[in-house]
Amino acid sequence: MAFLSRMIASLSLAALHRRELRKLLKDTPSDNCILTLNPETLRQAGIGALALDFDGVLAPHGSPEPLPEAVQWLQRCQELFTGDKIFILSNKPTDGRRHWFAKNFPAIRFISGVRKKPYPDGINRVAELAIVPHSAILMVDDRLLTGCLAALIAGAPPCYIRSPYIALGNHTVAELFFWLLRAGERWFLRVISL
Ligand SMILES: [Mg+2]
Repeated sequence: MAFLSRMIASLSLAALHRRELRKLLKDTPSDNCILTLNPETLRQAGIGALALDFDGVLAPHGSPEPLPEAVQWLQRCQELFTGDKIFILSNKPTDGRRHWFAKNFPAIRFISGVRKKPYPDGINRVAELAIVPHSAILMVDDRLLTGCLAALIAGAPPCYIRSPYIALGNHTVAELFFWLLRAGERWFLRVISL
């Protein structure tokens, strides 16, 4: 029920922000992933904090830890942003993931106890904890109608991961479900923007 009401909220909020979402979709290369995001360039562009989704962004769906290439990217980010300016803003902050980060990136914090994306509460919390303006928080997400929409609502720049990590062999049903969701989001935006 909570999922359904959040989905309805997502669709109505997306309708309000359809032009920005459509522009984001249009401007994002189809191969965009975290590895195409250069941490140095982000810093030079004035980004002061990172809010990172997990599933699809750092690892395939349901994985307890980031992929090795994502770990390397996180290390580069940590050197430039310092860990206390990096946050995991996932709608699924599992204990396994928390434990992995506590061991490997203890300065990186999980945002929890807030309404899930697309509500902007998590990004507001990042702004409080990182002590940076919303405009300096980059929300990195593979979902247009959750993380990217939350960023637009909060006044933070979104980064749409158009080429998410997927492992069909591990969580086939869930991966197919989310593949359909992502495709459905793009279809929805094209339809409501006509
Ligand atoms: Mg995701």
